[in-house]
Amino acid sequence: MLSNAIKSELSWLFSSFLVVFFFAWITGLWLASFSAYFIYYVFRHLLNMSRFERWMDRRSSTYSPPDSGFWEELSYLVNKKQRALEKHADINLYKSEQFKAASMLIPDAIVSLDKRDNIEWFNPISKTMLGMRHQDIGCKIESVIRQPEFIQYLRRGQFDKALTLTAIQHQSRTFEVRIFSYFEDHKLVVVRDITELYQLAQIRRDFIANASHELRTPLTVLRGYLEVMLDTPGSHQNAWQVPLQHMETQAHRMQAIIEDLLALSTIESGSINRSKSVVSVASLLHQIEKDAQRLGGVNHKFSFEIDDHLTLEGYEESLKSLFMNLVSNAVRYSPEGGDIKVRWFKHNQQAVFEVIDEGIGIAQEHIPRLTERFYRVDADRSRGTGGTGLGLAIVKHVLERHNGQLQIDSVVGKGSCFRCVFPLSSK
Ligand code: ADP
Repeated sequence: MLSNAIKSELSWLFSSFLVVFFFAWITGLWLASFSAYFIYYVFRHLLNMSRFERWMDRRSSTYSPPDSGFWEELSYLVNKKQRALEKHADINLYKSEQFKAASMLIPDAIVSLDKRDNIEWFNPISKTMLGMRHQDIGCKIESVIRQPEFIQYLRRGQFDKALTLTAIQHQSRTFEVRIFSYFEDHKLVVVRDITELYQLAQIRRDFIANASHELRTPLTVLRGYLEVMLDTPGSHQNAWQVPLQHMETQAHRMQAIIEDLLALSTIESGSINRSKSVVSVASLLHQIEKDAQRLGGVNHKFSFEIDDHLTLEGYEESLKSLFMNLVSNAVRYSPEGGDIKVRWFKHNQQAVFEVIDEGIGIAQEHIPRLTERFYRVDADRSRGTGGTGLGLAIVKHVLERHNGQLQIDSVVGKGSCFRCVFPLSSK
């Protein structure tokens, strides 16, 4: 199949050849006619080529495209392609205008970053929320959002959890920062003002903390009197002996719950305003090793494998509470004589704390819910062993404060492994 351009050229060639042939036949000037024809043919091509080039170069109404033969067809094709491209560009422009208009309505600040974390684009609300200015485009995001927590979060590159910032650009509001990776290592930073939500959560946390605190003193008084009454000589023959003992057990349980609620709200609200320090986890664990019998594990066989040089940047008291809760659970949910292995080691550039028991195990369907407050697989067993239902909730919050993760492997009737994975200390 011949292309249109070739067809058009052949038809021009044929008709012009006929004219020249007829002229030569009449005049008898065969050589001169065909030589002139050949020169004209080459000259015409050169002329059209130059017109085509000028037209392509300027593409204005002053320069018209060649209008015969091969070059006319070629100009037509180029023109057609160009119009299609212009239409496509118009659609893209329309879409980008539409996207910009929509982004103006979004109440969250959105900033797009390139591979090197330089600002590429931001929506209008970023100006008021983050104090962005037009001249910040092309600058590093760290030079605009300068909070050390944000810089650390950005550098760590783990964006599965949002970051809460209590101030940006000296505003006393609370912001939730989320970062999404997209299109060839680009990032989208989405900042939401969550001041009202945060205040509500704070009111809830304060209420629990205050209520627990208020209940602590009356309960201590009650327990004191109960102990005195139980210790009074001859009380074992008293008809009140059993009810008193029952009351003492329940008061003890209430006190344990209150202590755990207080610990939880302290960790959760981050009211431990001290900065992180380098914690010698090994010495904490050696202390727990010595006290292991006190946790109830009189008849359990403990083995501690501790890397004495592996430290962690964090909060000592919270970490101690995490370790104690996991070891105490292993004791409470294992039969007497069961092996309990406690390990603290470095693996894949991470610090790992592991407690492995040969206890009752946990069915898979319960595992995702274990860290919810007061969630128990078997409430009676938990209460019977002095559980408050808050131990793993405390573990979860301590891990969150240390950017750690909890992994639970368990087989019913065989035992469980609770693994806490921490990022390595940078100091
Ligand atoms: P509790 O005070 O009831 O132990 P936790 O929050 O510490 O509360 O644990 C929640 C639930 O998880 C427990 O009630 C128990 O059912 C289950 N659990 C925790 N640790 C273990 C373990 N080592 N073996 C088996 N079950 C466990």
